[in-house]
Amino acid sequence: MGYYQGLKTRLQSVKKRIEETAKVCGRNPESVRLVAVSKTIVTNRVREAIEAGVTVLGENYVQEARSKISDLSAYPVSWHFVGHLQSNKAKYAVRLFNLIHSVDSIKLARELNKQAKKINKIQDILIQVNIGAESAKSGALAQDTIKLIKNMKSLDNLALKGLMTMPPFFNNPEKVRPFFAALRELRDHLEQQRIANVTLNELSMGMTGDFEAAIEEGATLVRIGTAIFGARK
Ligand SMILES: *Cc1c(COP(=O)(O)O)cnc(C)c1O
Repeated sequence: MGYYQGLKTRLQSVKKRIEETAKVCGRNPESVRLVAVSKTIVTNRVREAIEAGVTVLGENYVQEARSKISDLSAYPVSWHFVGHLQSNKAKYAVRLFNLIHSVDSIKLARELNKQAKKINKIQDILIQVNIGAESAKSGALAQDTIKLIKNMKSLDNLALKGLMTMPPFFNNPEKVRPFFAALRELRDHLEQQRIANVTLNELSMGMTGDFEAAIEEGATLVRIGTAIFGARK
């Protein structure tokens, strides 16, 4: 099977698994969006994925994404930033991405707000939460998220849409599930605080190894690379 046919088959299988899982747990399949994570995947393969039906791409590195987005600008797709973002790249990020999943500090939020204002854009963002409180991982600690949201309230060029997490790594999705549940519970808790203008509809969680568990726990955005593009080098 050629790469394109293989990719098409894998994509269809992923979409089907998303749909089936949503149905089984009583959710509308359309409430779960697939973000095809294309980091390290060359432009032509990303193009093939778009032609096979991908509509949202996720990238981790600003520099890499810049050339892909420019080469593929004829396609009506959305680009999401899912990697760790440094403040000095905020200027590029607001020009390139429809949704930034990885805001985890007030410093980064302020810089994104400033850069978005310059180009007259309201930038959609998610707060990345380090739900397992792992020392080596980026993301705000769960207990710091209320303060972060409150501090972001005056940033008029940002629109907070929800939360994202990269849970601790386990080979077994059942071991990851409690972390997905914890992100959903944190979201529910934050919404109960009735912080003005904040609705946290989006939960970005679940990757190749565990997206079904994530959907069962409420994911609205699943970020899937390997199951679509094959193993990365
Ligand atoms: C690479 C990456 C993914 C996709 O991981 P797969 O296991 O290949 O599906 C999802 N989210 C983030 C933040 C990533 O860096």
